[in-house]
Amino acid sequence: MTTDRMLQFVDKAQQTPGKRDIGQRVEDFREIYDEFSIDRARAQASRCSQCGVPFCQIHCPLHNNIPDWLMLAAEGRLEEAYEVSSATNNFPEICGRICPQDRLCEGNCVIEKGFQSVTIGAVERFVTETAFENGWVRPIPVGPARDQSVGIIGGGPGGLAAAEQLRRAGYTVTVYDRYDRMGGLLIYGIPGFKLEKEVVERRIARLQEAGIEMRSNFEVGRDASLEELRQRHDAVLIATGVYKAREIKAPGITQGGIYPALDYLITSNRQGLGDAVPAYDDGTLNAAGKRVVVIGGGDTAMDCVRTAVRQGAKSVKCLYRRDRANMPGSLREVANAEEEGVEFVWLTAPEAFIDGDDGQVRAVKCSAIHLGVADATGRQTPRKVAGSERDIDADMVIMALGFDPEELPVLFAAPELAVSRWGTVLVDPRTSMSNLDGVFAAGDIVRGASLVVWAIQDGRNAAEHIHKYIQQQVAANAPLAAAS
Ligand code: FAD
Ligand code: SF4
Ligand code: SF4
Repeated sequence: MTTDRMLQFVDKAQQTPGKRDIGQRVEDFREIYDEFSIDRARAQASRCSQCGVPFCQIHCPLHNNIPDWLMLAAEGRLEEAYEVSSATNNFPEICGRICPQDRLCEGNCVIEKGFQSVTIGAVERFVTETAFENGWVRPIPVGPARDQSVGIIGGGPGGLAAAEQLRRAGYTVTVYDRYDRMGGLLIYGIPGFKLEKEVVERRIARLQEAGIEMRSNFEVGRDASLEELRQRHDAVLIATGVYKAREIKAPGITQGGIYPALDYLITSNRQGLGDAVPAYDDGTLNAAGKRVVVIGGGDTAMDCVRTAVRQGAKSVKCLYRRDRANMPGSLREVANAEEEGVEFVWLTAPEAFIDGDDGQVRAVKCSAIHLGVADATGRQTPRKVAGSERDIDADMVIMALGFDPEELPVLFAAPELAVSRWGTVLVDPRTSMSNLDGVFAAGDIVRGASLVVWAIQDGRNAAEHIHKYIQQQVAANAPLAAAS
């Protein structure tokens, strides 16, 4: 390989993919970013300085071999770039679209300081989309068939990444999901303007073609207990994510017009997928013509405000008790939301929800917040400013305050399953195994609400550990089998 095409960051400025015109993009749920042209992708990849110690790679949860694929892309060797990037990532085109790169790979790119980082995510997406277009994404190579099977509970990115890895190793794999479609939050949580559904469906089809059995509408706890799945399979992976919406206690919180974020986003995504959705059609979970207030400052809140804009809300406000600099959500998404007409009301917290005479919310009573001294975590504590109360008009309020795990030991009829005090499944980090023999866990149900790229990493790790575990069981039983 030559490096003379690299190190172009001094002469070539950072260029991110173009965005669709604002007026046009708020009219639909298609993705807002354009694809790089080949010339631009090569030019941007060539800005990489091929660091001896690549901090981008260290801070990518999958430790993707970023410098190598950038060099290959810069040289126009896109098929090889795809081979390298897909070796460590089951869904590179998805991560290229929705990883918060400013906090991961790109935020740690060494040229970030003086010259703005290499646009790693956009190149990753371009390389993988080019691979799909050219037929370089070949069927998953399934290893020699093995007698053992693995049951995976949850068809989100964690479960699906594990399913692919285990199928590659030759196991019979069944994924159980309580929804009617696979994909988890990729399909029902994250809106199409960040990740079009066809991109997810294309991956799921590929997994099915490799012989992975997908049992949708199958809820563990209702259609089978955890114990039944343990009897059915040689190992079980729990990858159920976290879905219990965090709540606040405030006067008026139970009246009409106040909804949890995920109910709202799932409804919108279903509508976009062409399902019959009465709650959307009858105007309940539909922001059209309404004054919408979203409470929260994370990525889920950003997805809600931008969805409301696209549904034709009269106005959209986002209330957050800290300020812009202290938001947990991606600043890129905040900027996109502002461009689309969302108003951010910083340093403001809800006190009560005021109803009209019809039992429907009509305003949110709020207080201004002052950020006090930092607590043990280093974050400044929000303090209410006395006498600062005011009402913000609202016909629809969406609560986006984060998620906690459901009570799995109860839900799965498995009281012996060990969970943390937050309800996440406790695993041995060296083996991904829970306290139950042969029961593993991965993704948000272990970490708490996190990121797609971490779920993929956990799923891959769990698959490796499941493989080792099953092989140890096979080896331990071999003398018995030979003797019988
Ligand atoms: P999930 O994706 O939640 O999948 C779990 C699956 O398990 C679901 O399909 C569920 O139906 C199934 N399941 C649950 N219980 C059962 C049961 N009892 N029986 C059978 N099946 C069951 N991350 C990013 O990196 N970038 C983003 O831009 C981003 N945006 C987000 C936007 C929203 C609105 C939300 C809510 C999250 C976002 N995230 C984002 C986070 C990301 O989606 C999650 O971290 C990731 O999906 C976790 O993957 P997972 O496989 O652990 O769980
Ligand atoms: Fe960056 Fe995410 Fe790709 Fe890793 S997977 S290189 S963090 S975009
Ligand atoms: Fe290239 Fe930046 Fe990674 Fe260095 S840190 S290898 S410049 S992408």
